[in-house]
Amino acid sequence: MEIKIAESAGFCWGVKRAVNIATQALKRGKVLCLGELIHNSREIKRLKALGMDFVEDIEDVGKGDTVVIRSHGVSPGVIRYLRKKGAEIVDATCPFVKDVHEKAMRLEREGYPVLILGNPRHPEVIGIAGHVREPLIINDMEGIRRLPKFPKLGVVCQTTLNMNFFKEAIAELSLKVKELKVYNTICRATAVRQKETRELAGQVDLMLIIGGKNSSNSTKLYQISKSVNPRSYHIESKEEIREDWFKGVNVVGVTAGASTPQWVIDEVVEYLKDLSKGGELSGRGVCKTTGGKL
Ligand code: SF4
Repeated sequence: MEIKIAESAGFCWGVKRAVNIATQALKRGKVLCLGELIHNSREIKRLKALGMDFVEDIEDVGKGDTVVIRSHGVSPGVIRYLRKKGAEIVDATCPFVKDVHEKAMRLEREGYPVLILGNPRHPEVIGIAGHVREPLIINDMEGIRRLPKFPKLGVVCQTTLNMNFFKEAIAELSLKVKELKVYNTICRATAVRQKETRELAGQVDLMLIIGGKNSSNSTKLYQISKSVNPRSYHIESKEEIREDWFKGVNVVGVTAGASTPQWVIDEVVEYLKDLSKGGELSGRGVCKTTGGKL
């Protein structure tokens, strides 16, 4: 069996940076993180073992606490509130997300009502929305079609938005808005990962998408893969893999969401190699990451 691993699989630059910033802060003492630093339960467990505590509510942050703001970012109101409480802020917001904040504010200053394309419950979208006064937030084509006509409208989007939805939404909006100003703020890391997943899914017999079930970008990769290759499986770890999935499989594709640590990917690849050696699978191939023969 040949194992093909997407080159973009795993931590993106922004998540890598956030984990590094948080790890450095942990060296100075106890650290709180507002929400999960990354959407991966096993990495969270590892960080907890290093002394990181995770809180969901800003009320749980007290005077003198060190708080990490994760790559998704937060609204300015949250930062102001934490400062007022006397907390020390370690800001690991991804610079690409900060760029979306800037663009949304610029659109508002220029007099455009701001539309955010994205999931209104996602922390990144909540953070972007907090930078403008009355944002509209839409997550599907039905919502776009229901929008009334606007003389002018400015658009930004969640960095992990599906590119096809973005294109469809903008095409529809251009028919109902006289002056439309659009910033495509989909992160390139996301676009590349989605493109590679689509291509890889079409070249292999089976696809494994590794990532937290609560990770929006991993779920999107799974949906894209499944639409191309019905034998696509979303797993968090090697323990979820079932040997009977691999009957008749000669080539398996592996990709992983932006919050999946390399060590989790390595575990899955090692498992696949062992499975192959154990005679459950046939054929020989080259693992792209290790270059090792199977
Ligand atoms: S996906 Fe892009 S925007 Fe999001 S954290 Fe990673 S690099 Fe930053």
